[in-house]
Amino acid sequence: MTMTKKEVAGVLEEIAVLLELVGENPFKARSYANVARTIQQSEEDIATLVNEKRLRELKGVGETLEQKIAEFVTTGNMKYHQDLRARFPESLFELFRIPGLGAKRIKALYEELGVSSLGELEYACSENRLVTLKGFGPKMQQKALDGIAFAKKHRDLHLFNVASKEARALYDLLSRHKSVIRVEIAGSIRRRKELVKDIDILASGADPNALMEAFVGAENVESVTARGETKSSVVLASGIAADLRVVSDEQFPYALHHFTGSKEHNVAMRQRAKDRGLKMNEYGLFRGDANIPCKDEAAIFAALELPYIPPELREDMGELEAAALPQLVEQNDLLGVFHCHSNCSDGAATIAEMAKATAARGYTYLGVADHSQSAAYAGGLKPDEVERQFAEIHALNAKLDGFRILKGIESDIRSDGSLDYDADLLERFDLVIASIHSKLNMTEQEATKRVVKAIENPHTTILGHPTGRLLLSREGYSLDFEKVFDACAANGVAVEINANCYRLDLDWRHVKRAKEKGLKLCIGPDAHSPDAIDDMAYGLGIARKGWLEAADLLNCMTAAEFLAWRNSS
Ligand SMILES: [Zn+2]
Ligand SMILES: [Zn+2]
Repeated sequence: MTMTKKEVAGVLEEIAVLLELVGENPFKARSYANVARTIQQSEEDIATLVNEKRLRELKGVGETLEQKIAEFVTTGNMKYHQDLRARFPESLFELFRIPGLGAKRIKALYEELGVSSLGELEYACSENRLVTLKGFGPKMQQKALDGIAFAKKHRDLHLFNVASKEARALYDLLSRHKSVIRVEIAGSIRRRKELVKDIDILASGADPNALMEAFVGAENVESVTARGETKSSVVLASGIAADLRVVSDEQFPYALHHFTGSKEHNVAMRQRAKDRGLKMNEYGLFRGDANIPCKDEAAIFAALELPYIPPELREDMGELEAAALPQLVEQNDLLGVFHCHSNCSDGAATIAEMAKATAARGYTYLGVADHSQSAAYAGGLKPDEVERQFAEIHALNAKLDGFRILKGIESDIRSDGSLDYDADLLERFDLVIASIHSKLNMTEQEATKRVVKAIENPHTTILGHPTGRLLLSREGYSLDFEKVFDACAANGVAVEINANCYRLDLDWRHVKRAKEKGLKLCIGPDAHSPDAIDDMAYGLGIARKGWLEAADLLNCMTAAEFLAWRNSS
């Protein structure tokens, strides 16, 4: 059992909150929160620190904390944490998902109003009891209600990377099974939806029972909800529910299409079949009682006089009506990576290490984009630090063969819409990604004005994570996308598809519109470590879901083509 830095920091942060809840000295709570931050920022592997008994080298770690962290890293549990947690009902922790409710406010709700779950909080709001509670008021009560609505909407939803990794593990297990003929991950994962409710796996095979046995016995299965002959359901360790359906190999293509969805796409397909005197369901495509044999999904589409529709497009958003479907962009089309951070700001690796990792993945250039000076919390670069970084990149490029590092910056869009640095310095970057990181509380009008002003800055190359959303934790600010896209078109600014699974921002529903407006888009992993460069794959999924072809993406240009595009737009 080895815990990651992130898991250790998570437990320490929760202890900090629990200590506030039990009314401990705030200094003690803060010290846990500080150590959590130190551990996350430390460049060393936490297990190594434990093994070499060097934990106390970390700022704020004394003997007691050393023991507790070591216990957690080696056993996966910390008694102190569990004892603290046991003093409160489990449902109380739901309240932490409501934005604006920190430990102090939750303590007041719990002690003054006896609120210990989301349901009780909603009820207390309905009786206006937060209006007069100390530290609250009408505004805070409305915020709590909005937060409850948000939490309800996202209940049982999971981030794409978490769900797809779990699905992949089950897929690998089944595809290696000796009795399997075909197996696919279906459902919203196959369609590359940004959030996933559950995992649907479909298989055909000679011995369905053996496949079911393998599935319910998989390593990442926490509990079995149903075990049948054609369908079994489990809950995985991460809390995601997963279903396996086993069908005959003849039935596999129809079932795969059906269980891939979306519901809306399936309804439209069934109507199309009906218009042609056919009937379509998960068992087949029928003329009268006779099934029209289809060896794969392409044959089903062909029988309905359609080209093969890739799963990403199956949302009933024009894919059946389109005169021609796009030639969707593929991983091999991607030549370069934009928007990566180095340890000059808040990244974990040097520029050289990031470049090496990017090249190792087959890309030919890297657009470094550290934070700018307004982002002081993220180690944003002062002008003299930018100069040093320019020199470092220049020296690295002189040594590199067949690979290029572009000098970029992720400049904060300040509250008035202006960017960091003066025009002379901005002019010298190869790319400027303009992003909002602060003062996110804006009306649609304010946000649109701020973003449009940044787009109109002659130095802006790419609009970064356009809405600032964090999936499952905060709604982004609203934007008037027509105005934003028109401004991008008028000023030759590209729009980012941020590939971090918390963001996946621009949302795919708007990607298609941006393309229709003739804009270029750009997949940015926003990588803060070499491993996170792999997040490009998630951005690619969103690009495909937004109907993008290679010609729509900056990433599919060579570095020279990109620079020429930048100078001309
Ligand atoms: Zn950012
Ligand atoms: Zn960033």
